[in-house]
Amino acid sequence: MPRLTWQAAELVTSTPETGTARTLRLRVPGWRGHLAGQHVDVRLTAEDGYSTRRSYSLAGPADGEFLDLTVESVPDGEVSPYLTEIMRPGDQVEIRGPVGGWFVWRPGGDRPVLLVAGGSGIVPLMAMVRARRQAGSDAPFRLVYSVRGPGNVYYADELRRPDPGLDVSYLYTRSVPEGVSRPAGRITQADLAEAGRPAALAPDCYVCGPTGFVETAADLLLALGHAPERIRTERFGPSGG
Ligand SMILES: Cc1cc2nc3c(=O)[nH]c(=O)nc-3n(C[C@H](O)[C@H](O)[C@H](O)COP(=O)(O)OP(=O)(O)OC[C@H]3O[C@@H](n4cnc5c(N)ncnc54)[C@H](O)[C@@H]3O)c2cc1C
Repeated sequence: MPRLTWQAAELVTSTPETGTARTLRLRVPGWRGHLAGQHVDVRLTAEDGYSTRRSYSLAGPADGEFLDLTVESVPDGEVSPYLTEIMRPGDQVEIRGPVGGWFVWRPGGDRPVLLVAGGSGIVPLMAMVRARRQAGSDAPFRLVYSVRGPGNVYYADELRRPDPGLDVSYLYTRSVPEGVSRPAGRITQADLAEAGRPAALAPDCYVCGPTGFVETAADLLLALGHAPERIRTERFGPSGG
């Protein structure tokens, strides 16, 4: 495995996903490719030499020298408001990666997969959904996506489009759209029993989101009988510093 080095990355486009999140398409000459589920470190350096870095998941499978990141602007954050509100096409940051070898999905098999996303934790799971589609994989995928309300869904149009073998269900924590009977609330065992996959099928489970969400969802999967070695987690806690 070659040592990772910092590489220049130029912003090509910045597209809104929700009122607070944007997808950044970066061009990284010489990018060696990556797997769905991996992330990169992004480094910003000020004119006085101060620099800071944060981790961001890759939102899609490798696409030549282009990478997509989706960043939620954290109020008062040091890095995410710059990336989402200030950075303009042509501006550069440095990135290093790809990072991570466990929280990855590789096309190839047809094992069932259960994806459980909380908020921006959808990003690496969407990379898996896209990698599956790109590879023409038959692996049955089920995505359970917990969001505050319908306006907080990333990739909403794409997730609405038919994708045979992919089932998507939403759990709303604060604002429930008309016609949905489940009351607003955090993920429960009953939700995962209903929208997830039976443990007897032994799906590969990938859980990603804020630390508290990931810990709760992983405990619920264990309580439902999923084997610990089938549950992979990625926590989006504060990074860098
Ligand atoms: C492996 C990994 C992958 C990640 N992938 C993504 C991604 O795809 N998209 C994305 O938007 N973020 C992702 N994150 C989170 C990201 O790295 C930053 O932590 C986040 O953007 C906040 O950075 P900031 O500099 O804006 O805020 P900071 O200046 O670091 O923090 C400002 C305030 O916000 C709080 N805070 C920091 N991070 C979070 C958070 N994630 N949620 C809620 N409060 C927070 C801090 O405690 C602090 O009070 C990932 C984190 C990890 C570890």
